[in-house]
Amino acid sequence: MQILLSSIINHNRKYTKEGEVATYIPELSKADKNHLGIYVVTLDGEEYGEGDYNVKFTMQSISKVVTLMLALLDNGPEKLFEKIDMEPTADTFNSISSLETRNPQKPLNPMINSGAIATTSLIYGESSEKKIERILKFTRRITGNKDININYDVFKSEKETGHRNRALAYYMKSTGVIDGDVEDILDAYFMQCSMEVTCKDIARIAAMLANNGLLPWSGERIIPAHYARIVKTIMVTCGMYDESGEFAVKVGIPGKSGVGGGILAAVPNRMGIGVFGPALNKKGNSIAGLKVLEELSRELDLSIF
Ligand code: GLN
Repeated sequence: MQILLSSIINHNRKYTKEGEVATYIPELSKADKNHLGIYVVTLDGEEYGEGDYNVKFTMQSISKVVTLMLALLDNGPEKLFEKIDMEPTADTFNSISSLETRNPQKPLNPMINSGAIATTSLIYGESSEKKIERILKFTRRITGNKDININYDVFKSEKETGHRNRALAYYMKSTGVIDGDVEDILDAYFMQCSMEVTCKDIARIAAMLANNGLLPWSGERIIPAHYARIVKTIMVTCGMYDESGEFAVKVGIPGKSGVGGGILAAVPNRMGIGVFGPALNKKGNSIAGLKVLEELSRELDLSIF
């Protein structure tokens, strides 16, 4: 495995030259485009890292997987899917249009920004501080990494420039999808996106999902198996936004990307994978990261289809 990962990282490094790091959140433009790393946690206890797997990056939309799990634990699927749908979309991740045109006017799914903001609003905690405290605690428990924290420079940068997310949230307040203080809910959302991790952390979250909700290394149950199934299904249909179909064909693994350059991929009953490469395509997904996953899936026959 180590040799395979090393060769995959080496010959996909050329793709780090393509695409651009995210700049719409100014702080993210400081990322080094040349970075490329992978970490694999198998369910039989092996772990392998290659390339820049120790470099920290912010979770961004990968955090939507964590908050979906926590919101499911807090509310149960019935209440959650009353507010947020489970349908894929061919629109961009920050699209506002379907919020007005669909009937009922609820966000399409928890993996796009509107649905994720609504999901965060459902997490228990009377203020953003309380919510983020619980989100951080939950993330640290799954990863076993007590040092996971918020990158406050990224948080500030996103809060100052996140007008599209603000528009989505106020729109959803007007239609009754979200209750409460909109700015406070946005603070919790911007903070969850600014949680700083490495490939290893996201591979561990993926391994728990691959293992149907149990931490493979300790047997501790994090979420019920049927919640893990819901989350993985939504990752397959919606995790790569309007590139989810192509990802399903080329890689075939439940995955979730973020504009920090990370991709979390959970191979049911086999392994969790974390990939990082900050240069993105137009859809906001890591170009080299996609190539690495495509090759690994082909080599190890990981597609679930
Ligand atoms: N924090 C980012 C945003 O809300 C997350 C988007 C992403 O990773 N695709 O725009």
